[in-house]
Amino acid sequence: MQEIVVRPATAPADKMIWAMERFGKLTVKTVYAYLKNNEKEMGQSSSVNYIALKHLWAAPLPSYLQMFLWKLYMHVLPLGDRLAEKNMKGDFSCPFCNREMETAEHLFFTCDWTRAVWFCSQVGLRINTTQQPHGLRNRIELYLSWCTSKDRDQCMAGTHIMYLLHYIWRARNELKFDKRNANRDRIIRQSRVMADKCLDAFREDSLSSQLPSNLSRNSLEKLFPEIPIDSIVIRFDASYDRNTGWTGAAAIASNSEGDMVGAAVRRFKAQDIGAAEMGAAEVAVLLGRQLKHDSYVFEGDNLDVIKALQGAACPWTLEVLKTHINSLSQTFSSCMFFWISRIYNGDADSLAKWANHQLGNSDLPKCMLDNFCFPAHL
Ligand SMILES: [Zn+2]
Repeated sequence: MQEIVVRPATAPADKMIWAMERFGKLTVKTVYAYLKNNEKEMGQSSSVNYIALKHLWAAPLPSYLQMFLWKLYMHVLPLGDRLAEKNMKGDFSCPFCNREMETAEHLFFTCDWTRAVWFCSQVGLRINTTQQPHGLRNRIELYLSWCTSKDRDQCMAGTHIMYLLHYIWRARNELKFDKRNANRDRIIRQSRVMADKCLDAFREDSLSSQLPSNLSRNSLEKLFPEIPIDSIVIRFDASYDRNTGWTGAAAIASNSEGDMVGAAVRRFKAQDIGAAEMGAAEVAVLLGRQLKHDSYVFEGDNLDVIKALQGAACPWTLEVLKTHINSLSQTFSSCMFFWISRIYNGDADSLAKWANHQLGNSDLPKCMLDNFCFPAHL
């Protein structure tokens, strides 16, 4: 024990050396060689294209999606083939078909199940497996370049494809870990809604510049964080009569399968459209409390009201109601307010119109917060 000499603190400071080069100096050449070698070890057919990565970070997508795509592109997602390489134990087959080894190319593109997703989606991609495969990276590079394209249709298709990839991944995880059946329509619907929201926000926010600024990216993050699995989504809307002030407010709740699980309506007098929309948000939160779930996403199409509920300033006339709504929602373990394009809020809009008309002309109570199914013709 006496042999051990403690090095005095005056010894030269530690320094970083680059182990790939003889004199420990980091040079671009050795980094490149290292990356090239590593790639061969991982058995990749095509190399990392740094222009594609530039497209990725410039694409008008929220950062959780960019991170996911980066992992997919760099082959670091914990897929079956990667785990098998590391000699891990478990089932490495594709959870969608249970027939083939789960590789990124198979899971995201060439599996029969996934090919049907692509084909039925709005982008209608035909993934051909009989021809020479394009390879995962080549495909992703192409679609990423669409995302930053000036061509509006190409940009829409690219964004849509990125969301589809993400929802395919989520469906795979739900199936693998929660034994929840993967639902093709749900993947297609959810990715379409999210892609359209994303594009809408960028169009509104950065009409002048081609690429999103950090400012617009931050506001995007805030508007569309990732929806937690198992949240109930409640969409709300108001129908406001400018002449009389009478307002119909409606909220419709659906679970993560897209099935309706409750609805609520109320008729009241509002001072202006802002007060009407904020009143609808209250109906939505009250419905949430009625449903006794603990994780909610509330979606409305009035941007000012959503921003206010997310914590931004709002007109003083709405302040009291906003505080009330925020305190009502504190009983939920997770509660988020998202903005949604009017196009996707049609159901809540029709129900609000119905409420304004019907509750004014009949003996129905002025407020109905019970879970109820409204007539199918609505
Ligand atoms: Zn498969």
